[in-house]
Amino acid sequence: TVARATPDSGRVPAGLPTKLQHYIGGQHVDSVDGATFDVLDPVTNQPYLTAAAGKAADIDAAVAAARHAFEQGPWPRLQPRERAKVLQKIADIVESRDQQLAEMESYDSGLPITQALGQARRAAENFRFFADLVVAQTDDAFKVPGRQMNYVNRKPIGVAGLITPWNTPFMLESWKLAPALATGNTVVLKPAEFTPLSASLWAGIFAEAGLPEGVFNLVNGLGEDAGDALVKHPEVPLISFTGESRTGEIIFGNAAPFLKGLSMELGGKSPAVVFDDADLDAAIDATIFGVFSLNGERCTAGSRILVQRTIYDEFVRKYAEQAERVRVGYPHDPSTEVGALVHPEHYDKVMSYVEIGKNEGRLVAGGGRPKGFDSGNFVAPTVFADVAPQARIFQEEIFGPVVAITPFDTEEQALQLANGVKYGLAAYIWTNNLQRAHNFAQSLEAGMVWLNSNNVRDLRTPFGGVKASGLGHEGGYRSIDFYTEQQAVHITL
Ligand code: NAD
Repeated sequence: TVARATPDSGRVPAGLPTKLQHYIGGQHVDSVDGATFDVLDPVTNQPYLTAAAGKAADIDAAVAAARHAFEQGPWPRLQPRERAKVLQKIADIVESRDQQLAEMESYDSGLPITQALGQARRAAENFRFFADLVVAQTDDAFKVPGRQMNYVNRKPIGVAGLITPWNTPFMLESWKLAPALATGNTVVLKPAEFTPLSASLWAGIFAEAGLPEGVFNLVNGLGEDAGDALVKHPEVPLISFTGESRTGEIIFGNAAPFLKGLSMELGGKSPAVVFDDADLDAAIDATIFGVFSLNGERCTAGSRILVQRTIYDEFVRKYAEQAERVRVGYPHDPSTEVGALVHPEHYDKVMSYVEIGKNEGRLVAGGGRPKGFDSGNFVAPTVFADVAPQARIFQEEIFGPVVAITPFDTEEQALQLANGVKYGLAAYIWTNNLQRAHNFAQSLEAGMVWLNSNNVRDLRTPFGGVKASGLGHEGGYRSIDFYTEQQAVHITL
């Protein structure tokens, strides 16, 4: 954990704006009341831009623009192929600007530049994927011979409200924007207030790709103001939300009187279970990556590692050694593996868990600021061993480069530990016993399971969690289902 570059050598991306506005009906506009908020750069924690702070009046204007674009068309009524052409163009533009996008994202969020680049490419892939999917879409038809014919009309729903978090913001926005637009809806996006920079690039990309004005609208602002107004807007029938479980609960309550369609992708405390017959080196590499990539600010992070007691000591020793070798550095440095956490508030939260962990487990790596980083939101990759299941660092989502390791003896114990938290987003299993792997996967309370592998998923598969990790699934046709009405038509033959 050594400083790899000085904070100012080539750190600031070219063309960095100092002011962000909303984007409503094809126009960049300030808030109705002129309010703004400051956005900090996570390396210095100095404000580097001001963004318009949207409130209910700004959301009203954005929803009106989106509603107008939906009613007047042509977007919802275009052939899927025509919409797909625009989406493919969006993907081309994102790909051609991946370096610039990554630099902006890395500067704003503190993500390591190489990882931000991967996320920009994934954003392009999301647009390509949903463009293909709507063109290939088939709709159900059912025939009762001689009696009845039934078929399904699939229709866009209207104005979709998209509320996104600050971790991998651009990619997560694309994950909602692409299917919402592909299916013919119009949208209002409310990006996270910690990281509004990359979202501001969508407006130019969409305009260049030929998306009609008013189809995409963006309102910056705080969750409790702009986000809240979007959730409570009567003309927004759908809310797709990604963020903390607690925020999901609030949104659920606020959307209830309107009976809105909700997709909830929430928090996690995902287990990685390592049995004694696993390929140990592969398991260590993967579980290091699983919690320290993306600064540990990853919803599917394998933040609890459960290890069979027969290999426990060896695992902990090797894991701690490898964690100490993970390179903390400035986000723009290509050799950096862990950058700066997004915001001082989040840094304080993660550091408070590091302190809690010192009383709850045995610290074997990290445990504070890395050497050479006296300011900025840098946290050394931190590993606690011997963590009991009732410990807060075992139960609560930390969302940083901090991991808890816990031993188990039997498969039953491992399952109990794995399922013994309120979350159920992802799980990782390491064993060479295939029968056990499949049976164990089946018993896990997790929306997604990786067997002897790490966090790579085909875009056609369902994405979502159980328990406090979410409600509903996105991914492949499940996203298409969420963003469309399915009307059944029955004809007597
Ligand atoms: P957050 O819940 O604080 O904020 C998410 C978004 O909701 C932001 O845009 C915020 O402004 C908005 N918001 C906040 N309060 C609101 C309210 N009352 N009404 C409407 N909108 C409101 O989450 P975060 O800290 O930005 O993101 C980190 C969390 O997101 C973690 O818990 C992480 O696990 C989760 N996450 C989940 C997934 C997934 O797919 N399951 C993916 C990424 C992140």
